[in-house]
Amino acid sequence: MEQKIKEVDRMAANKVDNGFYGQDILSVSQFDRNKLDFIFGVADEMRMLVERFGSADLLQGKILANLFYEPSTRTSSSFMAAMLRLGGQVIPINNVQYSSVTKGESLPDTIRTLESYSDVIVIRHPEVGSAATAAHYASKPVINAGDGVGEHPTQALLDLFTVVEALGGISGLKVAMVGDLKYGRTVHSLTKLLVNYPVEFVFVSPDILRMPKDVIDVVDASGHQYTETEDVHDCIGDVDVLYITRVQKERFTDLAVYEAVKDHYVVDPALMSKAKQRMIVMHPLPRVNEISYAVDNDPRATYFRQMRNGMYVRMAVLAAVLGKA
Ligand code: ASP
Repeated sequence: MEQKIKEVDRMAANKVDNGFYGQDILSVSQFDRNKLDFIFGVADEMRMLVERFGSADLLQGKILANLFYEPSTRTSSSFMAAMLRLGGQVIPINNVQYSSVTKGESLPDTIRTLESYSDVIVIRHPEVGSAATAAHYASKPVINAGDGVGEHPTQALLDLFTVVEALGGISGLKVAMVGDLKYGRTVHSLTKLLVNYPVEFVFVSPDILRMPKDVIDVVDASGHQYTETEDVHDCIGDVDVLYITRVQKERFTDLAVYEAVKDHYVVDPALMSKAKQRMIVMHPLPRVNEISYAVDNDPRATYFRQMRNGMYVRMAVLAAVLGKA
């Protein structure tokens, strides 16, 4: 007990004025290398804290409103677990159909309501820009947990944290993003975050699911090299990170189009036999058919580590915006 409080106190004392206190977390464009190093450092400490003590009382007395207008397993439960492990409490609104949203309540009014009861709001919503709208009306920090096909900044943070953990660093890596690059918000955020480092990109997708122009523009403006291809075999032998995504069924207006592209890429042992020995396979999850179960025991399979790291990174983000990291 004594030790636990000391660990938390040491963290708090070292990290006052962290640049995140009271801030919304809406986009990865808010992060530079210094901020990333800070969050990753705190996430490492959170991991040690959980491994040694399970929980702490750093956010005791604080309440998180966890507002999800779209399905979620990992993001929603890892934010909840993060808050609970730091001694805070959670108002979980995962079924908006049972809230006043069904009665026609607007997003600003829902946000005004929840901020009366909480200290920080996490929001997932199907519309691009919805988290920014929520932040506009909220006087408490708002964290974007996915705004439609827009961004998913905390996913990108946990993705990068996992790359550092698995490969020891980011600089010099060749990173392939594979699958639904058009609608996958995780690859949008991850690409925009990776431009902070000297990396090379390969964007692998069917023609109709190519990386959107606004993301390519960010890559271009940063001076990074990238190639686009439809065939994963063009790059499998020399990538360090293979980040594959689910085809986002819920974003298609024509399901026949979805059916035609949904199983375009499958990571299986045959494909893995062509990959480098020192590389990692990542996926934000949930997977549908993109990675065969036979790959799960391959030491290069890193998607379950991503999932676990999500909680540490979200602990760090919550502590940072609440001024306790
Ligand atoms: N869980 C991730 C997201 O919310 C990836 C996905 O759904 O495919 O964007």
